[in-house]
Amino acid sequence: MDWPGPILTDSGGFQVMSLAKLREITEAGVTFRSHLDGSRHELTPERSIEIQNLLDADITMVLDECTPFPRDAGRGAKNPWSCPWPGPSARRARSRRGPGYGLFGIVQGSVYGDLRRRSATGLRDIGFDGYAVGGLAVGEGQETMFRVLDETVPELPENAPRYLMGVGKPADLRGAVMRGIDMFDCVLPTRSGRTAQAFTRRGTVNLRNARHLDDPRPLDAECPCPACTPLLPRLSPPPRPQRRDPRRHAVDPAQSALLR
Ligand SMILES: [Zn+2]
Repeated sequence: MDWPGPILTDSGGFQVMSLAKLREITEAGVTFRSHLDGSRHELTPERSIEIQNLLDADITMVLDECTPFPRDAGRGAKNPWSCPWPGPSARRARSRRGPGYGLFGIVQGSVYGDLRRRSATGLRDIGFDGYAVGGLAVGEGQETMFRVLDETVPELPENAPRYLMGVGKPADLRGAVMRGIDMFDCVLPTRSGRTAQAFTRRGTVNLRNARHLDDPRPLDAECPCPACTPLLPRLSPPPRPQRRDPRRHAVDPAQSALLR
């Protein structure tokens, strides 16, 4: 992976949820059948961290069971942080890890405040370099997500990064930052780039709409970002550099990459 910047990897817990019909969760980890060829695989917490270390990730995540929504409270209550894995695997991983690398635990517990709090305090007792809140933005809605953050974030140490996984809509980012979240990851920026969706202070704009093809104005005349300002001469086609045509607009991922 020829990437000079920091790398954050996920544990595979979210993929376990995606493969729900094919999975079996045990004390040792999770076994699942490949949806491609039906072959059987086992993912243990140790193997998950080993794979992430082989990728030379700067921040690795402990294997979690990402709980789907809705989830029945009865089952979640058995495992305060949704699975028995974080404790032992985190302690073993910690002993092998070098300086400059971070290992994060992931708070689960669906939409139940008591489960979230137990998960958060359990992870805090183990001690991680950072704390992620997982299993949100899976269909519960913004109001519920914010309520869960209100119940969860105060339980997480203030002097460690707090990371909300899978969230990227502007209004969600703002609300989560106000609740103490420091980090996010989401497919939304790259997906929006691919589909030519732009976020402006007046809402989202679909640049594939025909009316933008011949509109020479920037998305927002007062915005200093690369998408709204004239492109560098060598990157822009010589005539009309500020067209909204998504094929040449800076929200296009290919062009965004050039701008970096
Ligand atoms: Zn802008």
